[in-house]
Amino acid sequence: MQDQSKRLMAMLHMRTDALTAGEAIPEPITLTSAFELPAQPDPSRVYARLANPTVEAVEARIAALEAAPTRLFPSGLGAYTAVAMAALKAGDKVLMLSDGYYAARNLMADVFARFDVSLATCAATELETCPLDDFALVIIETPSNPGLDIIDIAALAERCRVAGARLAVDNTVCTPLLQNPLDLGADISICSDTKAMGGHSDLLMGHVSSRDEAFIDAVQSVRNLSGNIPAPFECWLLLRGLETLELRLARMCENARAALPLLEGSPAVTQVVYPQAHAQASDRGFLIGATFKDAETADRFLKKAGFAAMTSFGGLHSSGDRRARWGDDVAGGFLRLSFGVEPTDALTAQIEAALAEL
Ligand SMILES: *Cc1c(COP(=O)(O)O)cnc(C)c1O
Repeated sequence: MQDQSKRLMAMLHMRTDALTAGEAIPEPITLTSAFELPAQPDPSRVYARLANPTVEAVEARIAALEAAPTRLFPSGLGAYTAVAMAALKAGDKVLMLSDGYYAARNLMADVFARFDVSLATCAATELETCPLDDFALVIIETPSNPGLDIIDIAALAERCRVAGARLAVDNTVCTPLLQNPLDLGADISICSDTKAMGGHSDLLMGHVSSRDEAFIDAVQSVRNLSGNIPAPFECWLLLRGLETLELRLARMCENARAALPLLEGSPAVTQVVYPQAHAQASDRGFLIGATFKDAETADRFLKKAGFAAMTSFGGLHSSGDRRARWGDDVAGGFLRLSFGVEPTDALTAQIEAALAEL
């Protein structure tokens, strides 16, 4: 992972390398849908459904972190849709996690099924023994969401290569700063930038990265023709979030580490899951799964600890989501806790007091 510091530096300095006196720092937002055409039309700056300078600036930054060509989409699911449209044809089979992000699975089962793409599912913990032949595309998340199980990306990438399947990794939980699936052999990296990448709970965004140029061309073509490009303003908000990605993640992970022993030591919490330290990621992250004795106790904990009850994660504010509410196959009292950037001592004091009162 030592490359990631250099990549982060490249991302942060992307614009300043080429600065001339009097230029805006950072780059200004370009709210423009049409561009002056040269005599020979330049396909990269013709019309904003194809490309816009602000969209391209953010893509270049994320490309520096991923070390791969990158395209932005208006949401994480928009990115999934583009991957499916670029990678699949009628008759193809897709393998996804039965305990992965439910809406992505429903996209395949409800929408792409109508175009004769069939979906098979497998639990994250059983993937090692699941045969991969026959699949055009395997899509995983690691850590999985919400169970936070770890899948060895490099080992799976090798099995996919032998089986002739493309491997896409949804890297939303780690972000490309903490884990780079493409370095580990995955063909495609998908990320919901709505979460920690944006980090301020104020935008929807997603991206697709791949070192397979032909695949990125196909993704670009799908985006051009489906009109699935994000607006410059949201991209500019994401740019602002990216500038503090490392700082935010450092505090978020530190807060999760500080809260872990409190949750593990509390009689009100029956099970705690914090992703295992694994060579493929540089940190165990900012999400902890905690099971309280029932839904009512879990809700009381959130209120008393000052955590927002919300179904997203990776923002500045510590929050929790009781996943059984959404039909996930977890205990009623299971909370996916996302740790924010609050001062660690004040946050842990609040958690300790809340646990003592349950
Ligand atoms: C949120 C999320 C998505 C979907 O992203 P949106 O930006 O909400 O469309 C996909 N995968 C994971 C792991 C997520 O957490």
